[in-house]
Amino acid sequence: MKGNDQDEVKAGNAGGNVGRRSFLKGALAVGAVATGGFALNMAVPGLAEAAKRPLPKKWDETIDVVVIGSGFAGWSAAAQAAIGGAKAVVIEKMPTYGGNSIINGGVYASYDDKFHYRQKMGLGDDSPELHMQDTLKGGDFFSIPALAKVLAEGATDGLNWMIDDGGAVIRPTVVRAGGHSAYRTHAAGIGKVYVDALKRIAEKNGAQIRLNTAVTWIWRADADPKSPVLGVEVKSGRKISNIKVGKGLILASGGFSRDVKMRGDHYPFLSGENWNCTNHPGATGEMIRFAQSVGADTLQMNYIQLYPYADPETGILDTPALIPFNGPGNGIVYVTKQGKRFISELARRDHVSFAQIGLGPQGKPTYTIFGDDMVEKMGFTKGEIEAGLKKGRLVVGNTIAEVAQKAGLPQDALVETIDKHNKYLAEGKDPEFNKPITKAMLPMTKGPFYAVAQWPAIHHTMGGLRINEHAQVIDIFGEVIPKLYAAGEVTGGVHGTNRLGSNAIPDCVVFGRVAGRNAAKG
Ligand code: ADP
Repeated sequence: MKGNDQDEVKAGNAGGNVGRRSFLKGALAVGAVATGGFALNMAVPGLAEAAKRPLPKKWDETIDVVVIGSGFAGWSAAAQAAIGGAKAVVIEKMPTYGGNSIINGGVYASYDDKFHYRQKMGLGDDSPELHMQDTLKGGDFFSIPALAKVLAEGATDGLNWMIDDGGAVIRPTVVRAGGHSAYRTHAAGIGKVYVDALKRIAEKNGAQIRLNTAVTWIWRADADPKSPVLGVEVKSGRKISNIKVGKGLILASGGFSRDVKMRGDHYPFLSGENWNCTNHPGATGEMIRFAQSVGADTLQMNYIQLYPYADPETGILDTPALIPFNGPGNGIVYVTKQGKRFISELARRDHVSFAQIGLGPQGKPTYTIFGDDMVEKMGFTKGEIEAGLKKGRLVVGNTIAEVAQKAGLPQDALVETIDKHNKYLAEGKDPEFNKPITKAMLPMTKGPFYAVAQWPAIHHTMGGLRINEHAQVIDIFGEVIPKLYAAGEVTGGVHGTNRLGSNAIPDCVVFGRVAGRNAAKG
């Protein structure tokens, strides 16, 4: 396609001319943009049939703002839409609310918080500008800067909203995590703390949820830029019904890490069932496909993140799996099975994951070593450590040699590694991996010490639907699709090649709020 504003585009494989206005009218095909035209890929099984679906003759009900998904993004959107005076209903296909958000690690990047913990703890400076710059750099400058800016600037207000209006309780600390140049990551133990806070705000303002209800189609008459989305088809048990949206449809349906086909189509290295995955089973990409079928653009679908520190056996991101993420700014050390460091502990997630994968299958697992005096500073409680020990996820020893022996690591090598690292902290320089040393990093001189095993598991899909800074979904021609909004992991372009850890929750909360606020305006 040449230029941006043709009235007519050439249909590639389908042959003949297809008017822009009618592009999706009779043939709601996924528009694969090919050089010189649109390939109306009618060969995809099921697509042609789906494309012919007539609009519903009657609507079963009308709701002002329909929100798909009950994670951070969905509840934020529903809350804000309800505050804006709209009747808001959250549609959730699973039997329980919360999606990936409720099992997320609860880490939230924000340059400040209402208690000003960073300032009180003397952990250096930060700003929304620095947060944005770290986000761009951490994603190799593939993020859309205007979107990264919205995230960084809205993060603190979003956090304080959940604390003040939703009763979220955060831990009294701030940590520095991989890829961040400041201490800005706030901890709550688990994502449920924020999900429940957002749900409380949403419900006290009148929003409702329908569980066990899957969206099975999005209705739009045609792809004329003035043509809004009309509603959704939903399936609950055997019952299929159609909901008309009065003011707006907000897609907050999460990522597609559990969609084995979709993830393999975009990133063949991660194809197949053999990868561990941190996600809940509902993290599939059908809403992205439905949005594409009404003209939505996608971007960066091939950027899929591995979480480097998951439970090596199950792939679960449990509390012990959070310690290696939260701890770098407090002096934890990553080691191989040979008891040697292999990367800067402040490296970003993709670098740590691929350093581990580079060790080969015989290198699995690697370990994080940490000291008891770091536990609360990293945002954990003694009770959480006890639970990790009981579960067998952590081992403890009074000396480094004892931890090594319990974890099955060579004792001399681990003692030498930790001694060397202690010296680097004292000298303020890491000649091996060039880790920036800070005063908050504690040497491991006095036990007890702990070890936790870790290995990469598929975690987050950075790509998804193209949105603008108002959370409006953009079509394949670069136009806003009226009444269609998206927020959270279902969107693409906020994080680039690699999402910085603890940027997911502010992404969802900030864009969810933007979407809800705008949708309520109608
Ligand atoms: P985010 O972190 O972006 O808020 P989550 O994964 O936490 O995303 O939540 C997304 C929710 O959307 C999940 O609970 C998931 O089950 C739900 N969802 C995904 N697809 C559909 C669908 N087709 N119909 C209804 N709910 C859906």
